[in-house]
Amino acid sequence: MLTIKIIPVLKDNYIYLIHDPVSKQTAAVDPAEAQPVLDVLAENSWQLTYVLNTHHHWDHTNGNVALKQLTGCQIIAPRLEQNIIPGVDRAVNAEDTVMLGTHTATVIAIPGHTLGHVAYYFADNALLFCGDTVFVMGCGRMFEGTAEQMWQSLDTLRQLPADTALYCTHEYSLANAWFALRIEPDNIDIQQRLQTIKQLRKNQQPTVPSTIALECATNPFLRVDHARVQQYLGMEHAAPALVFAELRRRKDLF
Ligand SMILES: [Zn+2]
Repeated sequence: MLTIKIIPVLKDNYIYLIHDPVSKQTAAVDPAEAQPVLDVLAENSWQLTYVLNTHHHWDHTNGNVALKQLTGCQIIAPRLEQNIIPGVDRAVNAEDTVMLGTHTATVIAIPGHTLGHVAYYFADNALLFCGDTVFVMGCGRMFEGTAEQMWQSLDTLRQLPADTALYCTHEYSLANAWFALRIEPDNIDIQQRLQTIKQLRKNQQPTVPSTIALECATNPFLRVDHARVQQYLGMEHAAPALVFAELRRRKDLF
């Protein structure tokens, strides 16, 4: 079993350390900063093997070069963004694999937030690191891609096994939960999850990981083909990508 450490950094970012106790290999996902990663590595007497970047934004890559210099780790990043991500050693495409000990992460292309955005999916441990694409009860903004692309990416992720643990890179859950409740005020799963998230945040606890099942039940952006969501938007029977685009537009104004 892989061990996961959640490292809160900056205002609302998470860096994740993935450690394989058998091979002793460790990966850092989206290191916004180097020092907090070095601190957690030292506390656990772990050596860093890889950095895994999901996309090029600075708050996912700013720690790359320092970590490489100080630990000798290898930096793995999406091929489409390899020229704008610092220190890349290996560029990966969709369906490439990254090994952490005997555990395999498959690269999934999920364009939309950026054009080269990827997720890293460890099927054997049911773990998904999805960067800024799906958030707890929300999704990333479309800075580079189209609504059609983003919807296809979300649709790809929601088809992963229901018990897959979902690790996203930002703590936006409380605001997202209020938006979800606005869209589906009668959805009991959303009502209950808002309470859970309120309690966790009151205690300064992270709301990650989520699961694919929880997101399918409570994340409006994964529910654009549900009648309630379509009715709220006055878009019954519209194509999911169109409903998604309208929902994203409303969230941007929320
Ligand atoms: Zn981003």
